[in-house]
Amino acid sequence: MGKTRVFNLDKVVEEFEEVTKNAAQVQRETLRKILEQNGEVEYLRNFDLNGRTDPESFKSCVPLVTHADLEPYFQRIVDGDTSKILTEKPVTALSLSSGTTNGRSKFLIFNDEMLQSSMQIYRTSFAFINREYPIGEGKALQFIYSSKQIKTKGGLIATTGTTNIYKSKQFKSTMKEIQSQCCSPEEVIFSPDFDQALYCHLLCGLIYSNDVQYIASAFAHSIVHAFRTFEQIWEELCENIRYGVLSDKITDQSVRLSVSKILHPNPELADTIEQKCAGLSNWYGLIPELWPNAKYVYGIMTGSMEPYVRKLRHYAKNLPLLSAYYGASEGWIAANVNPRREIESVAYAVFPNISYFEFIPVIGENEETVGLTEVEIGKEYEVVITSSAGLYRYKLGDIVKVTGFHNSTPELQFVCRKNLLLTINIDKNTEKDLQAAVEKCSQLLSSEKIEVVDFTSYIDLSSEPGHYVIFLELSSDVEQETLNDCCDCLDAAFVDVGYVGSRKAHGIGPLELRVVKRGTFERIMEHYFGKGATVSQFKMPRCVRESNGEVLEILCGNVVRGCFSTAY
Ligand code: AMP
Repeated sequence: MGKTRVFNLDKVVEEFEEVTKNAAQVQRETLRKILEQNGEVEYLRNFDLNGRTDPESFKSCVPLVTHADLEPYFQRIVDGDTSKILTEKPVTALSLSSGTTNGRSKFLIFNDEMLQSSMQIYRTSFAFINREYPIGEGKALQFIYSSKQIKTKGGLIATTGTTNIYKSKQFKSTMKEIQSQCCSPEEVIFSPDFDQALYCHLLCGLIYSNDVQYIASAFAHSIVHAFRTFEQIWEELCENIRYGVLSDKITDQSVRLSVSKILHPNPELADTIEQKCAGLSNWYGLIPELWPNAKYVYGIMTGSMEPYVRKLRHYAKNLPLLSAYYGASEGWIAANVNPRREIESVAYAVFPNISYFEFIPVIGENEETVGLTEVEIGKEYEVVITSSAGLYRYKLGDIVKVTGFHNSTPELQFVCRKNLLLTINIDKNTEKDLQAAVEKCSQLLSSEKIEVVDFTSYIDLSSEPGHYVIFLELSSDVEQETLNDCCDCLDAAFVDVGYVGSRKAHGIGPLELRVVKRGTFERIMEHYFGKGATVSQFKMPRCVRESNGEVLEILCGNVVRGCFSTAY
């Protein structure tokens, strides 16, 4: 096992131990490097740093900002201004954040340092996992996809962060180093058509079913989506394998050619898959059954991915689910170095040498930040990043909770995006509150063997008083009585005092539950892909605003049942 491994896993772990032991010093050093390199750029010249690189001067001179504050600078870069605006080195590529959390994509700089830190995160995460769950020679069934690349007015290529990574040479070589080569040829990852890419990922995964060591995607949602699709198309996949002929559905020539090279008639394999599928009850344990050598399922499973964990457990049976790392198009932050922890208690240890981090306490009078090693266990903070990709004291908009320390670097649990999701007057409900409410409702439905396929919400202010609307897609039809119970359960699950008080005082109307047709959330996803989002970074918007008219139209146009709560 591991004979061909060209890098030393223990050394990778040791390096991480070293930088995290001296996190405070490494942070000062990281800031010094960033400011020495970029201190003379136009943006920083506004703030009279005059060559100082210490955290104290930096904090007192440079303001905290959001993406909106930096937009004019990014716009100039997008439009072709090549002066040293945010970074000393010329900008050669841009990332577009997924934009599925707040409905709008943001331009960010993608540079060599970002690429290097991605490789560092992949290697470190793998090294820690491999100590607990060693894998053999083989392949990974990776549901990864690229997204559209656009050329900006100024001639720069802009695409999602993950696509920027996947198309790099380093990605391929790092995947090889860490024995994580994708079953599918590269052409599949870069297929312009998502459905064709997914079909081929599944097909290639089946062809190499005995070699697959683990199943992965960037976000858990893609894995669940892949296996839900598998439930629909497995017979066709088997036929392709039986006769060695690729489905006509695959029309992209480069994808056809590349997959056809590895697809040969294999009636024995087709029979085995058919028997295994027929033997499964409601697809429970699909992953270990079809990929008998898989050791775990790997991807981001926290935050907005938590609602998919239940289904993933169903497919994975006893296989461990490992939540990978924590990062954003803005930059990498942390990795899960305790892979044995249950998803519910996963925390990510921050890399002190990747960016300079500050934290704004959530409970506090002002926006006074504390440094990486000054955070306190049990407290919640908003993450602030200063990176070599032109972000200086940038508020990421993520709320995290410190749950412990790995050496002297904090371990962070993702709590939620900062923006409140649901608020009408004095009520305050976050994405996490909505998730918890839907989870309670899921438990109620699971006794009837019905699953919540996906969900979102909406604030309806068209009548007085306004009220919350929850859209649910369910795996099968449900009795009206159960639906009423679900609706009451959802309403009662929002326990924030503002909400409860307003409901009792009729400042907020009864919660409305609307059940949508099967496939509605898939249509929403396709809508986002049409606009350039990628499956690899896709996050279902958990609240649809009035301004997002097209998604609202899809939801409202597919409602099949509904009811109002009688909980108050
Ligand atoms: P993107 O805008 O596509 O770059 O997505 C980045 C965002 O995804 C982060 O700011 C987080 O809100 C979310 N995210 C990334 N990693 C995790 C994680 N491990 N757990 C929860 N949410 C995450």
